[in-house]
Amino acid sequence: MSFEDLKLHPSIVKAIHDAGYTTPTPIQKQAIPELLSGHDIMASAQTGTGKTAAFMLPALHLLATPAKVQSRGPRVLVLTPTRELALQVSEAAKKYGKYLPRTKVISILGGMPYPLQNKLLSQPVDILVATPGRLIDHIQRGRIDFKRLEMLVLDEADRMLDMGFIDDVESIASATPSTRQTLLFSATLDGAIDKVAAKLLKTPKRIQVATQKARLDNIEQRLHYVDDMSHKNRLLNHVLRDEALKQAIVFTATKRDADTLADSLYAQGYAAAALHGDMNQRERTRTLTKLRSGGLRVLVATDVAARGIDIADITHVINFDLPKFAEDYVHRIGRTGRAGAAGIAVSFASNRDSAHLMKIERYTGQRIASHIIPGLEPRIKPRPQNSGFKGAPSVTQKRKRAPFANSNSSRQDFNTANEGGAGNKNDHRGRSFSHDNRTSSFRNGNSFNSGHQFARPK
Ligand code: AMP
Repeated sequence: MSFEDLKLHPSIVKAIHDAGYTTPTPIQKQAIPELLSGHDIMASAQTGTGKTAAFMLPALHLLATPAKVQSRGPRVLVLTPTRELALQVSEAAKKYGKYLPRTKVISILGGMPYPLQNKLLSQPVDILVATPGRLIDHIQRGRIDFKRLEMLVLDEADRMLDMGFIDDVESIASATPSTRQTLLFSATLDGAIDKVAAKLLKTPKRIQVATQKARLDNIEQRLHYVDDMSHKNRLLNHVLRDEALKQAIVFTATKRDADTLADSLYAQGYAAAALHGDMNQRERTRTLTKLRSGGLRVLVATDVAARGIDIADITHVINFDLPKFAEDYVHRIGRTGRAGAAGIAVSFASNRDSAHLMKIERYTGQRIASHIIPGLEPRIKPRPQNSGFKGAPSVTQKRKRAPFANSNSSRQDFNTANEGGAGNKNDHRGRSFSHDNRTSSFRNGNSFNSGHQFARPK
């Protein structure tokens, strides 16, 4: 099947060819015909499957015919959990819609100044991409006219649910015409998502594409056991010195740790910078632009901030701290191995992380092989890791249980708090974590001097 077979508007097909796509991905093959025939859909598709084009191409196709209702408000509304994802969706809309005349795409995101957004909203708009918290503010102030809205897309609905945005999403949906077409994309279509779909969608077609598991096949997953913070830092240094590493994302548990580690790496001579939800939009955009242009080699990030980053040169993802949820592990390591390239995902774990590792392995269905670097061997042998696999025992399973000293990775306070939008309380709504009272890994460690001021990359 080709894009021509999908009967999309010729201007859209032309833009797809410019993008270099020759064949629709499975989600595109399944979703686009249903959407063009007017059905609601709920699709389980993750980042990397081509899901953005799966909804954006039919959305643009719809814009190729004049609106039936006279208004200046959006005809398509896309809700996303994070600002980064929203910006990527807006970029995709512009890329695929470049030959459609006068197609106006705007983003309304937490952390952006209100006056600018008010100005954007006072002009005619075709596609509005927004994070729910900030959009609700504008709706409540009567700044958005949804009279001519024809399509509502809920992107990463599971994430919006996890982040406590679902009440906002439902309120936004209720402000739009009931005649709209509604699309829900989610990593999983479980009970909670079904409930949301039952409220917001009309007899949706369910679409399931191969899980991210299959996508992980081109990513080599490695595990390094660490004794303490100093050992962890030496291992990180070793991994970063690998010449095969073009660009890397290093994940920390907290925003504060991301800053401290980025500063420390920068001071050691790495082109490194942090990305997290406490940075304002300008700083975040500047950092991402620098990463895209190759001006940064190491990005130190928290989970939500790094979601959706799609850069082919990211050869390595390093879990300096393991993520709290197995699902986040998949999202993290999916930042490498993009566009068919091979990627390497390195995770640091202490002996106390065995149960956690087991959950991750069960979720991905893949074993993470334990690696030892000569000269950087862990002093204390890790516990056996009974991951419930039927295959050959791993290096870790053969090892004996032993106590583990000074672990930092086992703490309970992994952070994803307040990533939705700095300065916008609504974008954090419903998230109850706080990192203020947690023990920072750096405060336990001895290699980082977080009181020291390092020069920041500009
Ligand atoms: P997404 O799942 O929307 O994050 O898309 C993942 C990546 O796949 C993006 O870099 C897209 O530009 C790319 N992509 C989307 N559709 C296609 C296609 N049909 N062929 C090749 N690449 C695609």
